Amino acid sequence: MNATELPAREAMEFDVVVVGAGPAGLAAAIRLKQLSPDTSVVVVEKGSEVGAHILSGAVIDPIGLDRLIPDWRGEGAQVHTPVNDDRFYVLGSSGALRLPNFMLPPLMSNHGNFIVSLGDVCRFLAKKAEALGVEIYPGFAAAEVLFENGAVAGVATGDMGIGKDGHHKTGFACGMELRAKYTLLAEGARGSLSKVLIERFALAQDRQPQKYGIGLKELWQVKPENFRGGLVQHTMGWPLGNSTGGGSFLYHFGDNLVAAGFVVHLNYANPYLSPFEEFQRFKTHPLVSGVFSGGKRICYGARALTEGGWQSVPKLVFPGGALIGCAAGFMNVPRIKGSHNAILSGMLAAEHVAAALSAGRAHDELASYEAAWRSTPIGHDLYRVRNAKPLWSKLGTAVGVALGGFDMWTNTMGFSLLGTLPHGKPDYATLRPAAACRPIVYPKPDGKLTFDRLSSVYLSNTNHEEDQPVHLIVRDASLQKSSEHDVYGGPSARYCPAGVYEWVEEGGKPRYVINAQNCVHCKTCDIKDPNQNINWVLPEGGGGPNYPNM
Ligand SMILES: Cc1cc2nc3c(=O)[nH]c(=O)nc-3n(C[C@H](O)[C@H](O)[C@H](O)COP(=O)(O)OP(=O)(O)OC[C@H]3O[C@@H](n4cnc5c(N)ncnc54)[C@H](O)[C@@H]3O)c2cc1C
Ligand code: SF4
Repeated sequence: MNATELPAREAMEFDVVVVGAGPAGLAAAIRLKQLSPDTSVVVVEKGSEVGAHILSGAVIDPIGLDRLIPDWRGEGAQVHTPVNDDRFYVLGSSGALRLPNFMLPPLMSNHGNFIVSLGDVCRFLAKKAEALGVEIYPGFAAAEVLFENGAVAGVATGDMGIGKDGHHKTGFACGMELRAKYTLLAEGARGSLSKVLIERFALAQDRQPQKYGIGLKELWQVKPENFRGGLVQHTMGWPLGNSTGGGSFLYHFGDNLVAAGFVVHLNYANPYLSPFEEFQRFKTHPLVSGVFSGGKRICYGARALTEGGWQSVPKLVFPGGALIGCAAGFMNVPRIKGSHNAILSGMLAAEHVAAALSAGRAHDELASYEAAWRSTPIGHDLYRVRNAKPLWSKLGTAVGVALGGFDMWTNTMGFSLLGTLPHGKPDYATLRPAAACRPIVYPKPDGKLTFDRLSSVYLSNTNHEEDQPVHLIVRDASLQKSSEHDVYGGPSARYCPAGVYEWVEEGGKPRYVINAQNCVHCKTCDIKDPNQNINWVLPEGGGGPNYPNM
């Protein structure tokens, strides 16, 4: 059968379609049903199950859960480890300086917070949502936005069973149209449909460019003598140089589990830098290496996070829907927390959708949601830290973080001497030509504490149907060679945490190889390619990582 002979797509009608079963999407669905049980709500999730694509730290501020499900403590919310020790260090290559807690702005304190697997929290939220009557479809990627009279009218899930060359394989199934009065996009950082809508409706006009980081994470089962349940430890400095932003986290929780992670700000300049290798090096520091001694690495993954904050949040609404959670950029960078704002923004949007539906409205702009958010706890949370990231980017780690800390202190007291600083260039424009940069030589992995990419990706349980069109679209192959390779030295081979991109020599010429089946859906290539020449589109639903508890 070819495309011209295809039957029309089946369509289903709902009041609200939610794209993405992360904390934002599930909170929106739950809140809609709490407010109005008769509202029909469907959630589509590209992971094979809820939580399969969720990767976070995670230390959560319970403000969101408290408001959404006030009795979550008695309801098996998978939130068991309260923070009991909170430490912040500046690392040198062999030493570490602990910053006393009293020096840190109060908003940085983690007391009252909990260490969790965010994937497990999402599984709990999904159960609550289904009990309220929400329909959740995991394994279905929302691949296309539906428009009607200029407004968003829902989404279509991707076709299943298309071969690499575009032919329809046996078992081909057409995507389905999920039509709705309002569509909420909860795709997380750098959502693909969100990107389309931000561009189409010029939602980022008059805003600062969105900024991003890449976060890499390993989950370790450590020996009981190395475990300190409730300890939250952050570092900045080594192995990153002063001009590259980022840092580490180490969270001890559950049954001898340690979540170890490393974030690199994606406005780094040296194309030879590899966030993956920096993370591996970090684990060899004497402050932390002992934690892993005799332990076992049980999971690995990576995900981009938004860092632009207050001044980069786009206009949230368009005719027929809204952005929520990290699709809108509600992450608080210095706190490394976004899940509380994801839940709060999902709830807030749901309240404005419910009011619109009860007034008989559909497919229009939820202007009141856009007008409200800056004066809610989400706005309050982001406003106080709005200069931390621009200062870090402009002045480097030593001076920028100190001044950022000072500005957060003054903001806590209700004022700032700096106003609201701009971010400068978008992250794709910050790489310098390879010829102007120093190559970085990383040590070889030892297989015990440090690892290579392929054995790491194995632990993400990533799986894609191999015979399907490549979901990493290089718009102009010759530009990739003349610029990404010849000028920038092929940074995709280093920033991709899953070894998807390689430049291989063939007959004396470089050839770009894309191992798309290894992709862990972090979205870094879509953000960092220096020419914005790589477009990440949705692969078949159910493909990608299968994180058990990240
Ligand atoms: C390394 C790292 C550490 C972090 N640490 C913390 C922390 O300690 N505390 C904290 O509070 N926050 C932390 N965050 C941030 C936090 O994880 C995010 O703020 C939060 O997950 C955002 O929730 P969300 O629902 O907006 O998006 P996500 O959690 O990203 O969920 C989006 C969901 O939508 C699905 N999806 C996306 N596109 C589609 C589509 N087109 N069709 C179908 N499904 C789709 C995805 O598969 C995913 O399940 C961290 C983030 C990272 C990367
Ligand atoms: S291909 Fe892109 S989205 Fe996939 S893992 Fe690599 S950088 Fe991340």
